[in-house]
Amino acid sequence: MTCGRDAGGYAADMLRSVILAAARSSKIERLVGTAPVTRSLVRRYVAGETTAHAVATTRTLAADGLLATLDYLGEDTVVVEQADATRDEYLGLLAALKGEGLAGSTEVSVKLSALGQRIDPELAYDRAREICAAAADAGTTVTIDMEDHTVTDSTLEIVQRLREDHPATGAVLQAYLRRTEDDCKTHAVPDSRIRLCKGAYKEPESVAYQRSLDVDRSYVRCINALMAGEGYPMLATHDPRLIEIGIDRARWYDRGKESFEFQMLYGIRPTEQLRLAAEGYRMRVYVPYGDQWYGYLMRRMAERPANLAVFARSLWTKS
Ligand SMILES: Cc1cc2nc3c(=O)[nH]c(=O)nc-3n(C[C@H](O)[C@H](O)[C@H](O)COP(=O)(O)OP(=O)(O)OC[C@H]3O[C@@H](n4cnc5c(N)ncnc54)[C@H](O)[C@@H]3O)c2cc1C
Repeated sequence: MTCGRDAGGYAADMLRSVILAAARSSKIERLVGTAPVTRSLVRRYVAGETTAHAVATTRTLAADGLLATLDYLGEDTVVVEQADATRDEYLGLLAALKGEGLAGSTEVSVKLSALGQRIDPELAYDRAREICAAAADAGTTVTIDMEDHTVTDSTLEIVQRLREDHPATGAVLQAYLRRTEDDCKTHAVPDSRIRLCKGAYKEPESVAYQRSLDVDRSYVRCINALMAGEGYPMLATHDPRLIEIGIDRARWYDRGKESFEFQMLYGIRPTEQLRLAAEGYRMRVYVPYGDQWYGYLMRRMAERPANLAVFARSLWTKS
């Protein structure tokens, strides 16, 4: 956690905003897609392009005592056929996990915008419901990822409806949003599964904390609300201070290690993932796969100024 603000902190936040804006630019997508450095970065953060790659990675993680949640990359779909294809990919993936006996340790993460939420939320709901039914048939669950604040209400409403038939369907709350502490209190009910993350999108000050210190403070208040409640908290962070606070609060609220979990992204702090699993914590790795990696990769770049510097230098050299 940062304890003050210096010029470096402001510069990093500004750089982060620029990169997040670039995450939605098709011009920059073309430039990044052909840069030599991109391939190795994609390999670091993305498990591969196919269902087989995703399943193989899951098997390796399971052998190390790690749980997984698989994300078929893609977002902001405005083409109905593409939304259908995304649903079909998840249905095939869930059948493969069931067939391989991996569904016990692996769930799936789904973005409603990849299922057509921006075309028609009702159709996205229908497709998500089919995925939830397939997950239940395979013996696992679904977590609905959270995207930018313009879809927070719509996404939470859809999760609520999915939970009527599939109560274990998970939601994601983002600590950078000013509303989230209240949302945590509202959603910390029996059977609910809530993934708490800091938040990865470029958001205006009117709805989101801008300083990392304020986001971290909000994250701690949200941990308190979730741990005090009756749901199943999923603490999605790589931040060592917040992980320690999570462990401390679980003790404070007398929660066993099976009553919550930690989550981290594939390729980030893998040694820490193994350490937490070895200590008996439930540790789930978010594993993205597929060829639509651009938006995902850019959000990972924005989180880490050190990655950004290498990346920007190599783009500059190329142009
Ligand atoms: C399982 C999971 C699911 C998520 N789902 C969502 C979602 O649905 N919606 C959403 O908005 N966001 C989601 N996120 C992203 C999240 O909001 C943050 O952007 C991201 O996790 C970075 O925040 P942090 O808590 O790790 O803290 P940070 O302060 O960003 O990072 C803490 C430390 O972790 C390490 N680290 C963090 N990021 C990187 C990186 N990219 N490369 C290398 N090291 C790094 C560094 O050591 C850093 O100092 C998810 C994150 C996880 C782990």
